[in-house]
Amino acid sequence: MAFLDIRKLSKNYGSTVALDGVDLSVNAGEFVTLLGPSGSGKTTLLMSIAGFTQPDDGGIVIDGVDVTDVDPEDRDFGVVFQGYALFPHMTVADNIAFPLKVRKWAKADISAKVEEMLSLVGLDKLAGRKPRELSGGQQQRAALARALSFGPRILLLDEPLSALDRSLREIMQRELKRLHKETGVTFIFVTHDQEEAYAMSDRIAVFHNGRIVQMGAPRDIYRKP
Ligand code: ADP
Ligand code: ADP
Repeated sequence: MAFLDIRKLSKNYGSTVALDGVDLSVNAGEFVTLLGPSGSGKTTLLMSIAGFTQPDDGGIVIDGVDVTDVDPEDRDFGVVFQGYALFPHMTVADNIAFPLKVRKWAKADISAKVEEMLSLVGLDKLAGRKPRELSGGQQQRAALARALSFGPRILLLDEPLSALDRSLREIMQRELKRLHKETGVTFIFVTHDQEEAYAMSDRIAVFHNGRIVQMGAPRDIYRKP
């Protein structure tokens, strides 16, 4: 069985069909991109995996456990959303430590993990800075470190690079790929940018009107119209 199994997931908002019976299987450690135009259902699927949105029909199974009715805090994911900002009044180190404090980690373990995460994303020298004292790329690195600090097996990313300029985007694309490789975490990445999807993914799920209309490796998706 796949690590993450989404079965016949449906969600309506009034008369708007956001998800129309979506099936998606993701293997452990895979980098899967949800690609499609605005309004095609990508964010709704991501929010459903997180448990922030309750589907009308269908199910979500993570590592053999049906989590469809499980609260978000009892699922196993980190999130980096475009609008999911760092806590502005906290330093980078305190932002990264936050999910660990919530989970009542011991102080020494938190210090060690924060150091490890700072080094993983290359922010060792900026641990004491506030988010507003960081560049856009540095803020995204800090957000990634915070999302991964407690060791989730799934990372949900909703257009995390769309606010960055082109050259920084390319740097952060490489950075994301490196993080994916080094952590072995399963990445579910949402974008409407075909080039970005092509550059980064193991597989791409192409969304249209709440359905997956194509699924495959980038080279297979690219060839078809
Ligand atoms: P995408 O992420 O691909 O842009 P979304 O999943 O955000 O697509 O949206 C899918 C459809 O559902 C869109 O038509 C959107 O307007 C609608 N939708 C999403 N969230 C809500 C909501 N909370 N209330 C009403 N409509 C929504
Ligand atoms: P994205 O830029 O990823 O497509 P959106 O801006 O569409 O995301 O949605 C951001 C948030 O607003 C989500 O929580 C989504 O559920 C909600 N939302 C999206 N469309 C609508 C809508 N038509 N009415 C109410 N809420 C919406």
